[in-house]
Amino acid sequence: MVQVYNFKGNKDGAKLLVLGAIHGNEVAGPLAISRLMQELEAGKIKLVSGTLTLLPIANPEAHQKDIRQIEENLNRVINQWETPNTYEKKLGVEVAKLIEACDYMLDVHSTHNAGEIAFSFLDYATTGNLKIVEALDVDYVLSGWPDVYGSQDEIVDFSTERYVNFIGKNGLTLESGYHKDPAAIDLAYQSIVNLLKNLKMIEGSFEKKEKRIVKMTDIVIKNKEGHLADKFKHFDFLKKGTLIAQCDDGEQIFADKDCYMIIPNHHCELGAEWYYLGVLL
Ligand SMILES: [Zn+2]
Repeated sequence: MVQVYNFKGNKDGAKLLVLGAIHGNEVAGPLAISRLMQELEAGKIKLVSGTLTLLPIANPEAHQKDIRQIEENLNRVINQWETPNTYEKKLGVEVAKLIEACDYMLDVHSTHNAGEIAFSFLDYATTGNLKIVEALDVDYVLSGWPDVYGSQDEIVDFSTERYVNFIGKNGLTLESGYHKDPAAIDLAYQSIVNLLKNLKMIEGSFEKKEKRIVKMTDIVIKNKEGHLADKFKHFDFLKKGTLIAQCDDGEQIFADKDCYMIIPNHHCELGAEWYYLGVLL
């Protein structure tokens, strides 16, 4: 159902899985992975140890149609379902099998709006995951996602990142930026190459980028009509006392601490996540 490519080094070593297009229209991952594959095949990059498994297009039908998904969000149904009854659940089983066979996973996504900043998630700060983060070519790392969702029973999250960590492996999600921006493809490509170096799968060193780790502290659900008070963008820094939102009934919501705005939704419907806040770790 999906096309998987394996590359083996001469020596034993880490098993790294790289995923692209879990969401069909996020093209930065597939393009970065295919660039890497060409270089491996041409001998420009030589795998010295371990096994590299590449799944450039995890959702082929959605990718072909340039849409996010066919029946449901693949990044919520990664699991060994006994009777997978949707297209994505069937793919979810394939991806879960690949995750079970790896030691490290990098799941490459890209975002939908120009100017959006690249970052990675770090849901579980294990030694193995920090080794992955070290290699990524991003300035920001977002941690604590499962904690803020802990209180929200109705949200069931079978993401790649949850699955890989749930079964005791290492892995995380890279959001490489706006997917039509060539810089997002470069960033994804460079991050994978750095990770291969950090896992000693290819030779060479790389410059470790210093990261700001932002821990999510608040999830704010929009429970009455209103609007965000500014054109906030992801990772905007807000000083304590900044007006964040203006409700139609006159209520105003202010930042109760120095914090970062996380994934603001300017077109939020009632009952959905309006924005999140986080602080530097
Ligand atoms: Zn995505």
